[in-house]
Amino acid sequence: MTARLIDGKHVAEALRARIAADVASLPYRPGLTVIMVGDDPASVTYVRNKDKAATQVGIDAVTLQMPADTSQPALLERIGTLNADPAVDGILVQMPLPAHIDPGMIVEAIDPAKDVDGFHPFNVGRVASGRDALVPCTPLGVMRLLAHADAAIAGARALVLGRSSIVGRPTVALLLAADATVTVAHSRTRALAEECRRADIVIAAMGQPELVRGDWIKPGATIIDVGINRRPDGRLVGDVAFAECKEVAGAITPVPGGVGPMTIACLLDNTVAAARRRRGLTG
Ligand code: NAP
Repeated sequence: MTARLIDGKHVAEALRARIAADVASLPYRPGLTVIMVGDDPASVTYVRNKDKAATQVGIDAVTLQMPADTSQPALLERIGTLNADPAVDGILVQMPLPAHIDPGMIVEAIDPAKDVDGFHPFNVGRVASGRDALVPCTPLGVMRLLAHADAAIAGARALVLGRSSIVGRPTVALLLAADATVTVAHSRTRALAEECRRADIVIAAMGQPELVRGDWIKPGATIIDVGINRRPDGRLVGDVAFAECKEVAGAITPVPGGVGPMTIACLLDNTVAAARRRRGLTG
């Protein structure tokens, strides 16, 4: 058996086209401000990609580049100004921050209604209790890919590999809200392979290159591979041994070209959703 490929690039393109049409129909341009402190090279690339993708769909994207020695009070003050600015619908502070700044305090300073990363405790709490919220972008992308793959979630056994606050935990909450029977595994889990063999849906988010093997997979299972790992030879691989697993699974995402492209598309979607909510247009 060869699994159906869940093409995240294609799904993300369709989502971006839908968002662009949506934005074009609005009487205003949603505003997204990305704050970057310092010039970490990976962050510079991410931020540039976010800015470009936002501009392409008609979002008014602004990148605020602040020096690496920006003080925490200065950053908090800037966030306060953006919170009060009616033209700003989404605020995102690029992580990691320099060591002298407490990321928790920064995230909590963002108006939850503008928290398009979905990391503010208000949104985290709402997601955890199954309520409407701004949902973190990668887990949102995972759920969109499952929907695209027509995965039957209600009643299914779902295994989430990884319990980070940005991927694993919110994904658990979203799967529960969609009526899956959810197991969450982590580095202390015993018999990971056994857990995996029981799962109808496997979400891998560990950062462990190709840890999940073909003989761990229940025939016909749906696999969403969030992991992005670089092999010493430069190859990008996921947390799932793709060549093996695709012979057993029913549907599987590739790496690259699976969850990755969905994350930025979901950020754009969150920005438009935040704008509609704040400005009172829910249609
Ligand atoms: P993280 O914060 O490092 O968390 C990794 C999680 O995996 C932890 O819960 C850890 O367990 C668990 N884990 C590690 N090794 C394990 C093992 N051998 N067996 C079982 N569980 C294990 O990572 P993250 O930020 O969630 O990211 C996970 C992966 O997704 C990374 O490869 C990252 O690059 C990728 N990612 C991709 C996107 C995207 O847009 N596609 C976005 C975000 C992240 P403990 O809690 O016990 O330590």
